[in-house]
Amino acid sequence: MLYAGKRLLRHARDLLFHGRGLHLVNGNALVARLLKSALDRKVRLLTDTPVRELLRDGERVFGARVESAGRLIEIRTRRGVVLACGGFPHDQQRIARLFGHAPNGTEHLSAAPKGNTGDGLRLGESVGACVESDLTHAAAWAPVSRVPREDGGFSGFAHLMERAKPGFIAVRQNGQRFVNEADSYHDFMCALFEATEPGECPVSWLICDHRTQRRYGLGWSKPFPFPTARYVREGYLFKAPTLVELALQCGIDAQQLEETVSAFNLGAELGHDPLFHRGESLYNRAQGEVLHGPNPSLGSLRRGPFYAVKLVPGSLGTFAGLNTDACARALDEHGAPIPGLFAVGNDMNSIMNGHYPSGGITLGPGMTFGYIAARVLAGQADEGNQPVDMSFSKAEEIAGADERMRSDQEKLSGVCNEKYT
Ligand SMILES: Cc1cc2nc3c(=O)[nH]c(=O)nc-3n(C[C@H](O)[C@H](O)[C@H](O)COP(=O)(O)OP(=O)(O)OC[C@H]3O[C@@H](n4cnc5c(N)ncnc54)[C@H](O)[C@@H]3O)c2cc1C
Repeated sequence: MLYAGKRLLRHARDLLFHGRGLHLVNGNALVARLLKSALDRKVRLLTDTPVRELLRDGERVFGARVESAGRLIEIRTRRGVVLACGGFPHDQQRIARLFGHAPNGTEHLSAAPKGNTGDGLRLGESVGACVESDLTHAAAWAPVSRVPREDGGFSGFAHLMERAKPGFIAVRQNGQRFVNEADSYHDFMCALFEATEPGECPVSWLICDHRTQRRYGLGWSKPFPFPTARYVREGYLFKAPTLVELALQCGIDAQQLEETVSAFNLGAELGHDPLFHRGESLYNRAQGEVLHGPNPSLGSLRRGPFYAVKLVPGSLGTFAGLNTDACARALDEHGAPIPGLFAVGNDMNSIMNGHYPSGGITLGPGMTFGYIAARVLAGQADEGNQPVDMSFSKAEEIAGADERMRSDQEKLSGVCNEKYT
């Protein structure tokens, strides 16, 4: 308690003085270390300076035109340009072309940063690079709820955690479950797309009882001790004393919802979900509540008031991106590298070919290919201003480094295993 109390106080102080938490762990720590290394090496970083255009000399990309304080500035590079503008989660035109559930481009609410409007892909295409349009899934789908903002717009809250906790259930408008709620957010949405009839909107509702909302929160609505009145007032959270009244508020089939919940409750109390096998996999159980029995991922919805939040199709980021080779070089329509142009992160077409095998599949490749691109570029030090030409020997050199890294990793995991067993 002492530790948690101190952390909360420090977080509150950070919010007050800096507008955000400054505790350097997880992603914050990773990026902070990268920033420190860059500053130590006197790298000049320009913020609020969007790239508008790539500069070309014949085939070769040698820089970019950027906009700073209303002025266009040319930045010339000796080695190349790496596109890393975060894919196209907020590019309505490309969404309309590539997302089957969003024919107007507006039916999708991504939780990715608003500034990721597809510039990297457009810049790549402007010099002949190609965006893959034939992936199994064009994005990492996620159920998202619409959080009202002060300016009248909405932000997307991605429901990553609470779905798998005991006491939550997801239904479609017909009051029926359609998925194992504790599976990954991508699988959750794939099941919703599959269950949705042609012409219908792929929406669903996440529902829980009072005890569950107070313990875990529901989406943007926080758990105890935060009151729920504000979320209800803003139209984010639906609340009613009974399931039937809740269903009527949300336009869900009320009788079916009651039947669904009582069937779910029966199984949940015995620790079984005969319909979707929720809580059987280790993944489901790990996402649940460790101390909850008989199944960490299953709990009944018993006592009102009951709560619901509407889930709409969203994503954490996009998979479809610029085709590249193993050195992260952008490729043209014939599969040939475009000299001087690289793409990494979500600007690079997903190496998972549009599948979502597990968490980390965007950050992992993002870091890996950022590293590879940098190494390839750094390896050209003696090539000066010559056109970019990565020979196979470079790729082999990288493969050699990978081999060395792998063997280090094996040694390390041996040590870790020893420690933990
Ligand atoms: C809630 C949430 C949870 C997630 N959890 C995970 C996870 O657990 N594991 C995982 O692997 N992934 C996770 N992801 C996905 C992951 O965060 C992203 O896929 C990843 O950050 C994308 O990295 P990126 O470098 O491509 O883009 P970003 O990190 O988004 O960076 C792109 C940057 O480019 C800038 N930009 C855009 N246009 C221009 C322009 N014209 N000029 C200059 N700059 C521009 C943007 O402002 C932005 O700063 C999560 C995403 C969300 C939203």
